[in-house]
Amino acid sequence: MQIFIHYLLHFGAPLLIALIFFKKNWKKVYLIFIATMLVDLDHLFANPIFDPNRCSINFHPLHTYYAFLIYIIFIFLRKPLNIIGIGLTLHMITDLIDCLFMYLNCQECSINDSVLELFNLIS
Ligand SMILES: [Zn+2]
Repeated sequence: MQIFIHYLLHFGAPLLIALIFFKKNWKKVYLIFIATMLVDLDHLFANPIFDPNRCSINFHPLHTYYAFLIYIIFIFLRKPLNIIGIGLTLHMITDLIDCLFMYLNCQECSINDSVLELFNLIS
């Protein structure tokens, strides 16, 4: 179920945003959104590369709060940088939601302390 929600968010949310806010060229925008998934290439530096019990936020270099901040700044730049920024920001939000699921449902999951602090703040 969590995996289903993960992919729904990773592929569905960008599609909705492309359709609603970029009606004229939603296909191009959606392609750019999908391309921003390349940010997950930073997982290649981790061992193991993929671990469903590991929260990516603040674990991988392109998934840190600092990187997140830069993606948000991108949203205010010119096309196509703003679209890349929206895609990356959506990606971070999706991964953060994943971590929230782990926080709520998974005792043995590893979540970075800085992310735990954030969840403690909001819960
Ligand atoms: Zn990711």
